[in-house]
Amino acid sequence: METKRIGIMGGTFDPIHYGHLVTAEAARGQFQLSQVLFLPSGTPPHKDPAQVTDTKHRYTMTVLATLTNPYFEVSRVDIDRSGATYTIDALRILQDLHGSNVRLFFITGADAILEIMGWKDSEELLGMAEFIAATRPGFQLEDRQGTIHHWFSSQNKRLHILQVPAMAISSTDIRTRVHNGESIRYLVPETVDYYIRKNRLYTADVQKAMVDYE
Ligand code: ATP
Ligand code: MG
Repeated sequence: METKRIGIMGGTFDPIHYGHLVTAEAARGQFQLSQVLFLPSGTPPHKDPAQVTDTKHRYTMTVLATLTNPYFEVSRVDIDRSGATYTIDALRILQDLHGSNVRLFFITGADAILEIMGWKDSEELLGMAEFIAATRPGFQLEDRQGTIHHWFSSQNKRLHILQVPAMAISSTDIRTRVHNGESIRYLVPETVDYYIRKNRLYTADVQKAMVDYE
């Protein structure tokens, strides 16, 4: 039986944007992934829970954004668990779900790959998946490549660098734009844009939230 290659794109997705989608699609193509699972975080251990939008909204936006790509799925593995959710636990669950005949590829941006070193059980984490580090504007992966490769080879694991079309988009910037009443058109899928407006996310000011679409 052929080994299934599954990509996992973890994130807060607050909100999901085209940077995430371009990265996932590029990884799928380059690594011949049969599926990319988007894994919205539950209570992110590295972020202030009070600062993160309700999982219900983040999950729904991720579903809306991935709807039109037949290779994309959204996993509830993290959001259905209570307490702090760690990637290592999600990988264990996904590995169990798919059996031994699966090869997991964990997809991250340039900023996240360095953070991983500080994650809970990082050594074991590396044993469970191959890592794909995507280029991201504003984060100099090239400068750190030597360090990263050294670190990964010392762990005897493989790291892949993935060049993606540069998208200087971040969820932080999108939240700020919405808060300031600025357009986020073409930064997120249209459905996500509408969802944000409809649910008045990222702004206390309803008038501002609706201004673009009156
Ligand atoms: P925030 O600003 O709230 O941190 P974010 O835009 O960084 O949001 P996350 O949900 O934190 O989005 O990121 C999930 C994953 O997607 C991380 O691995 C991150 O590095 C990657 N990523 C996010 N934006 C981009 C982008 N524009 N290009 C490449 N990778 C990205
Ligand atoms: Mg981030």
